[in-house]
Amino acid sequence: MADTKALTTRAADFSAWYNELIARAELADYSPVRGCMVIRPNGYAIWEQMQRALDQMFKDTGHQNAYFPLFIPQSFLAREAEHVEGFAPETAVVTHGGGKELEEPLVVRPTSETIIYSMYAKWIQSYRDLPVLINQWANVVRWEMRTRLFLRTTEFLWQEGHTAHATEAEAEEEARRMLGVYRTFMEEWMAMPVVTGRKTDSERFAGAVRTYSCESLMQDNKALQAGTSHNLGQNFARAFEVTFQTASGDLDHVWNTSWGVSTRLVGALIMTHGDDAGLVTPPRLAQYQVVIVPIYRTDDERATVLEAAERVKRELAGAGVRVHLDARTGMKPGAKYYEWEGRGVPLRLEIGPRDVAAGAVVLVRRTGGKKETLPVEGIAARIPQEMERMQTALLETARARVEAATIRGATKEQFLQHIDGSGGFVYAGFCGRAECEAEIKEQTKATIRVLPDPEYRSPEPPATCMWCGLPSVAEAVWARAY
Ligand SMILES: [Zn+2]
Repeated sequence: MADTKALTTRAADFSAWYNELIARAELADYSPVRGCMVIRPNGYAIWEQMQRALDQMFKDTGHQNAYFPLFIPQSFLAREAEHVEGFAPETAVVTHGGGKELEEPLVVRPTSETIIYSMYAKWIQSYRDLPVLINQWANVVRWEMRTRLFLRTTEFLWQEGHTAHATEAEAEEEARRMLGVYRTFMEEWMAMPVVTGRKTDSERFAGAVRTYSCESLMQDNKALQAGTSHNLGQNFARAFEVTFQTASGDLDHVWNTSWGVSTRLVGALIMTHGDDAGLVTPPRLAQYQVVIVPIYRTDDERATVLEAAERVKRELAGAGVRVHLDARTGMKPGAKYYEWEGRGVPLRLEIGPRDVAAGAVVLVRRTGGKKETLPVEGIAARIPQEMERMQTALLETARARVEAATIRGATKEQFLQHIDGSGGFVYAGFCGRAECEAEIKEQTKATIRVLPDPEYRSPEPPATCMWCGLPSVAEAVWARAY
């Protein structure tokens, strides 16, 4: 039976709101193993929509899917020095199999660079074998101490792209291209604005030369790293001897990239659009874009209304709309509204006997506004337009929210005031020194999310580091983050 107690509001306790929303919408649940998450059908349906869209975008940019094993020989991780240092503390290690102690322990993959590049070493001989453009959809395990559903769990689902190229320039171009794919997906599908740019050395992926990131600001004004793309240089190629014969007959190491997004994006979607009534799903990613709720008193009315509702459903489905008719009996329409609102269905159509007689339906938008009576005639054209409008409006609303929580050209005082106050993004000068970055993190818990790409930078480049006053070498975007 549905829980009818109101959610804790976002303003009262954002973290409690987040957890209650997930439970109410039946998106995920805790598992008997601490830190592991059960993704329930309503949550998995959103992930499936995300997967579908991203998978097509990967294929459109020339990638193929493959699958590599869950287990990695422990020695593989150690071959790239930074990589093992970064990941060893959070690995799960299998020491026994079939009742016997293994000769070499196996790591449950925290990420797959090592196993994948060990295979590329076998497959790549010549420049004619390049580029290799492979993506994998998989689960990975990182032994996290503090976990939160979708945002940080011991096991999570993701995709990891792994490519090999003949030149440094091609690898760089690929890393940038996939960052762009992520940005497009996040903005056009998730209706979630991002800031893209490069990570500083202290935040870069263990083993990468350069890490690029899409950063988004949640409604509590904390940043969320939503997707990363790494230029790995020749670091892994050297560790795994991935070499190829160049066109001129020399032997060279390949240049690699890797890039990934995970089920964390479901958490990002919740915290970008959810409201005090529950989840709000952008139409392009909604499991059901439209739910039809029939309204009736008598059995006669029920038959008439359901027949009309079925007809509307067929028309919408024929137009490619993901539509659900909630014909459950023994449940009042109000209880159904409440449930579908909590689950974030973008549009609801109500049909009662009077609507049937008038050849009409009542449209209610999840994002608010007046109820509207629509003629059934032409509904298959009208609803997709409504969804497009909502998709655009959600992105605009989120953009305005992020803009309102962003300050630029900040001094140290303004930075501290903003970070300790309402929170959000702070654009400010940075001297480029790791000590300065570390001191700021220690004292304020704020980190450099990215050194932003040109289109995000302030018109006037900052002259000095907002913290230490030395000359600024790059503008940085600071925030407290998930
Ligand atoms: Zn400084």
